[in-house]
Amino acid sequence: MKRRVIDELEKIVGKDRMSTKMADLYVYGFDASIHHKNPDVIVKPANAKEVSEIVKLANATRTPVIPRGAGTAMCGHTVPLKGGIIIDMTLMNKIKEVRVEDLYCVVEPGVIYDKLNAVLGKKGFWFPTTPGSGEACTIGGMVVTNASGMRAIKYGATRDYVLGLEVVMPTGEIIHTGTRTLKNSSGYQIDRLMVGSEGTLGIVTEINLKLAFKPKASAMTLAAFNSLQDAGRCVSNIIARPLMPSAIELMDSVCIKAVNKCMNVGLPDAAAICMIEVDGHPTAVEEELKIVEEIARQSGAVHTEASRDKKKIDYWTYARKAIMPSLSRYGEKFVSVALADDMSVPISKIPEAVVAFQKIAEQNGVIVGTYGHSADGNLHTKMLVEPGSDDSWRRGEKAVGEIYDKVLELGGTVTGEHGVSITKAPYMKKERADSLETMKRIKKALDPKNIMNPGKIFDWDGNIIAHLRYPAFCESEGCMPSVKACEGQKEEGAGGK
Ligand SMILES: Cc1cc2nc3c(=O)[nH]c(=O)nc-3n(C[C@H](O)[C@H](O)[C@H](O)COP(=O)(O)OP(=O)(O)OC[C@H]3O[C@@H](n4cnc5c(N)ncnc54)[C@H](O)[C@@H]3O)c2cc1C
Repeated sequence: MKRRVIDELEKIVGKDRMSTKMADLYVYGFDASIHHKNPDVIVKPANAKEVSEIVKLANATRTPVIPRGAGTAMCGHTVPLKGGIIIDMTLMNKIKEVRVEDLYCVVEPGVIYDKLNAVLGKKGFWFPTTPGSGEACTIGGMVVTNASGMRAIKYGATRDYVLGLEVVMPTGEIIHTGTRTLKNSSGYQIDRLMVGSEGTLGIVTEINLKLAFKPKASAMTLAAFNSLQDAGRCVSNIIARPLMPSAIELMDSVCIKAVNKCMNVGLPDAAAICMIEVDGHPTAVEEELKIVEEIARQSGAVHTEASRDKKKIDYWTYARKAIMPSLSRYGEKFVSVALADDMSVPISKIPEAVVAFQKIAEQNGVIVGTYGHSADGNLHTKMLVEPGSDDSWRRGEKAVGEIYDKVLELGGTVTGEHGVSITKAPYMKKERADSLETMKRIKKALDPKNIMNPGKIFDWDGNIIAHLRYPAFCESEGCMPSVKACEGQKEEGAGGK
């Protein structure tokens, strides 16, 4: 990057809110994905005007710009593939307005999900999308990935709560989309376009978010099964009853073993577990708990336990949230990686999908743990690979392709909530073959110089085992590129912290 750009950035945000220190660049080269690459500079704007000035400079100098929230995205979303400026949005973290009488709030993008709910909860409201990363992820990151979570079946995804946005466009122009009203048919719904745009169309600097009423009661049933198919059938039997759960979390035996071994949580040693949550009026919750137990038993549950006790429910939820870190400690030589990690299938296809995933894993000699927000058909798999073994990565990659082929054959999507970026790009292109050109035209119209998060989604041409954060493929494009890139680079030292 040219020295002039760094100097100009310093004029916009000042020395203390930017950095070109090698250690900072290295850290900001990661998100929660398998990928890594260093940016050239990190800046931390404090308001939309600063964001706009940074983007204008980037536009004039054709410098890549990558907006970043908490960096918890799982597919390489914030990894600066072509270097450039990381715009860290976390200083813009004010809750500007909470208007419960109008059912909306106005927040800056850097507000953390759990912190917003702590404020809303005191007034009897919430933003209920419940991503597993809620204690860290930002509302801006959630909007731009259309994040959701275990409660999407009943409460929807982030897009269902976005009423309006303030956005800095790739030219630096600041626009306002949507409204603060619950209804709006006024022109193109540009806020909808921004939702899920993964930092490729603009930078969100303010969000008008719809509020939901917090349920008065909730309860959970833990049901254990001797087969994964029975657990999958239980999910669709509950929906078909009809009964609207607020969440159903499914875990297979690989996940159960991992959390029992690493966290000692004492879950039943079964082939699969469903944690079924219902919420609402206390009387309705009691009635639904009974029906859930009956359906679970009819679907083949060998053990059920219901609880209304918040501590117990939190404990089960903790066990469920412990899957990701536990899988990473499953066996010493393995790391758990986000590969094929977020597909969604029609609910009734869950049994067929989970069985197929296990078969594909066996055939390719990889270990796959399957879990997920199964009430809405969203399944997560984590693959255990040997991080330094090219062969292990190749087998994993082959399994990923086969898993996604199966998902598409079942009428599903390659990503229910995490988004595309790099890790899902080749498979998303298969899924969206006939609308790719339209997406490209939209991108070109809004960002003709391709400065916003370039190289992602349809712009990614390679395979997924690239720009790895792990030491495989050392002679190829993928291996520890950051370390290689660091060699020969000098610390420019323009920044403060
Ligand atoms: C343990 C764990 C559990 C998770 N569970 C879930 C889950 O249940 N559901 C789910 O949906 N996701 C989940 N995720 C993925 C991730 O947390 C979400 O995608 C989250 O919304 C990302 O928020 P963030 O603030 O970390 O954004 P980042 O990772 O920083 O950025 C995500 C994307 O948004 C863009 N971006 C960020 N801020 C802005 C902005 N202000 N303007 C424009 N673009 C911006 C970035 O360029 C990037 O493309 C999980 C991740 C982890 C690590």
